[in-house]
Amino acid sequence: MTTAQSASAHFPDSQVDVVLDLRQWPTPTDGQEALVTLWQQLEPGLYAKPLAAGALHVWESDAGRITVEIVRVDAQSRWAAEDTRFAIAAVRQQSALVYRCATCDRAGRSGYGSFRCRSCGDAGRPDRMCVDHAVVLDGSLLPSCPDHRPSCRGCSRTAVFWCAGRDCRTSVAWCEQHRKRHPQDPDTDYCPDCYRRAFPVCEEPGCSAVGTAECDWLDTAGHTCGRPACTRHARRWQVFGYERVGIGLCRAHSQVRSLSADEILWQICGTAGRRQGQRMPSLAAFGHNLRNAGHRELALDHHSIRARLTALHARMRSSGTSPALRAVERAAGDWDRQVKERIGTVEQGEVLVARLRAIVRELDYRFGAEIADGLTLAEYKPARPPASGGDLWIRVPEHLTGKFIGPQGSRIKEYKARLGMEIKLEDGRRRTSR
Ligand SMILES: [Zn+2]
Ligand SMILES: [Zn+2]
Ligand SMILES: [Zn+2]
Ligand SMILES: [Zn+2]
Ligand SMILES: [Zn+2]
Ligand SMILES: [Zn+2]
Repeated sequence: MTTAQSASAHFPDSQVDVVLDLRQWPTPTDGQEALVTLWQQLEPGLYAKPLAAGALHVWESDAGRITVEIVRVDAQSRWAAEDTRFAIAAVRQQSALVYRCATCDRAGRSGYGSFRCRSCGDAGRPDRMCVDHAVVLDGSLLPSCPDHRPSCRGCSRTAVFWCAGRDCRTSVAWCEQHRKRHPQDPDTDYCPDCYRRAFPVCEEPGCSAVGTAECDWLDTAGHTCGRPACTRHARRWQVFGYERVGIGLCRAHSQVRSLSADEILWQICGTAGRRQGQRMPSLAAFGHNLRNAGHRELALDHHSIRARLTALHARMRSSGTSPALRAVERAAGDWDRQVKERIGTVEQGEVLVARLRAIVRELDYRFGAEIADGLTLAEYKPARPPASGGDLWIRVPEHLTGKFIGPQGSRIKEYKARLGMEIKLEDGRRRTSR
């Protein structure tokens, strides 16, 4: 920042050569004339002073400070006097500031603007700031100008640090009240939410174990609830079969039995879509989960389940929940095929129920006609080849169930033998096999 300007080569007849240091002298002294005038004021101050190379003479006033450094003295000159011939060998001056601090400028001072404020840059302002006026918060060296000093994301107080958490990624600032310090690293701070995520504690009251399981519940925008639970208190909604990890649920979201059908489909599709390697369930698997939550009619109606999944896909597409959206699109072909297969099994099931009605009429001469009239198909599940037969789920009016089963299950045993397959009764709330 300093320059050594050669004001004049030393005069051949000069006795003393000096360097004039004006770096702390803000009054402009440009040009030979201004320099000569200044020197005429300074020179008398040197009279009667001993002259030695390397000696410094300092003038100080409210306006600033000037230093004269003696760089050469000829052998005869011991003391400066009115007839001593001085020559200014060099002048040291504050160079013109390449970058000026805008805040200093406004106060009539000059400061070197080493920093740029990103917000000013974004707003097209060329302002820079000096080290004193740059606002640098803890957690990142990103400077801002005083005008753009960030305020707390949580409460709009003046911010003092950048959150190092997963969501804020040192680009969201917070105040002292919202600071959560890293347990070991004093240079790392978090906002409350990021802290909870980085150091989860089980949500169960009174439990302080590490919360390794997060609640997977999705809001309509596709964000997870995230409340942590330890392995002992984690709740799992086993929607992907018992051998796979189910949907994690916190206390607040654990009431899955009262959910609407569309909510169930969304939670299952959303979580399957977020998980690496999790296949979308089949329509039958959706049906199983719907039945467990009390949607018995819909559970058997794969055509309607498929239609609801189509509507869900449209909602996802309009809100752009991408991982689940893609997973739903990939599964669409499978679901369409399952609907077609299902139509086939429903027809087979109706044939089997018609056959069963005839058997009941034939074997139970007292109640057979009444039972046969009330008997309906719930679901037919063909056995996987090479096995034959399968499970025929039926519904029988409640007051006739006992008659249909017979003493010690004697009647239903006969029906099973005649029909050549398992017969299962679906009752009002859940499935029972007898
Ligand atoms: Zn400044
Ligand atoms: Zn700024
Ligand atoms: Zn705050
Ligand atoms: Zn944060
Ligand atoms: Zn716990
Ligand atoms: Zn939750």
